[in-house]
Amino acid sequence: MSSKTKQCTVGARHKWQFVKNTTNAQAGGRGIGFAVRGVYRCKCGQKKLGDAGHEAHNPLNDLVAAMAGEGKP
Ligand SMILES: [Zn+2]
Repeated sequence: MSSKTKQCTVGARHKWQFVKNTTNAQAGGRGIGFAVRGVYRCKCGQKKLGDAGHEAHNPLNDLVAAMAGEGKP
């Protein structure tokens, strides 16, 4: 663990709660890829990115998926 994380102010350790998924568009050599990451937040206010989590179906995801699939043969 090289990255410093602030000590949690509401407990002994941060208690990460899944907030939402976020999608990062990444331009690669062969097109555009999407990396879905999960946003987690502690009650103390700290945030971190982690594995993509579950969330209620969001119609916006369909839009993103449609845009990502654009240009496919
Ligand atoms: Zn915390």
